[in-house]
Amino acid sequence: MSHSKKGYSKIPPGYHTITRHDGIIQEQVHDAYKARGKLHEPTICPECNAVFHEGRWQWLPAPANAHKEMCSACHRIHDHYPAGFLTLEGPFFLAHREEIMHLVHHEEKYQRAEHPIKRIMEIEEKPDSTLITTTDIHLARGMGEKIHDSYQGELEFHYNAQENLLRVNWSRS
Ligand SMILES: [Zn+2]
Repeated sequence: MSHSKKGYSKIPPGYHTITRHDGIIQEQVHDAYKARGKLHEPTICPECNAVFHEGRWQWLPAPANAHKEMCSACHRIHDHYPAGFLTLEGPFFLAHREEIMHLVHHEEKYQRAEHPIKRIMEIEEKPDSTLITTTDIHLARGMGEKIHDSYQGELEFHYNAQENLLRVNWSRS
């Protein structure tokens, strides 16, 4: 249950609130982008050159005679269909936008170096908030937790299990 004072009105249908103490989200197999799975090994993504090896996408030298198929991150980018949504808002955010976004980019770079499918898709800057969309729910969660660790404030997670989508909201007044 959420301890937020904002209530549930902002939560889209299909989402439920989880806390940061719920541990790793058990992803549902309904994720169409991962369920496509059953990839031959090795497979190389023609867009980003990530290699599917030992059951996951990795940054590896291109193997000879690799199958070619888009990785789940490039597929989501191609379809404009994010898995994670991180919204940052509040007066403190607006006053420290640049340094907080620096942290966001640093976290992406760190995670992407190890996991090719964890990427920022788009960053939408609005006058009173910023929305960052990601190819992977754990990246959105990780970025939200990094910001909360550094700047405190209010952190909320809303998870849509059916479609494996995660909305993360961080704000500080
Ligand atoms: Zn790719």
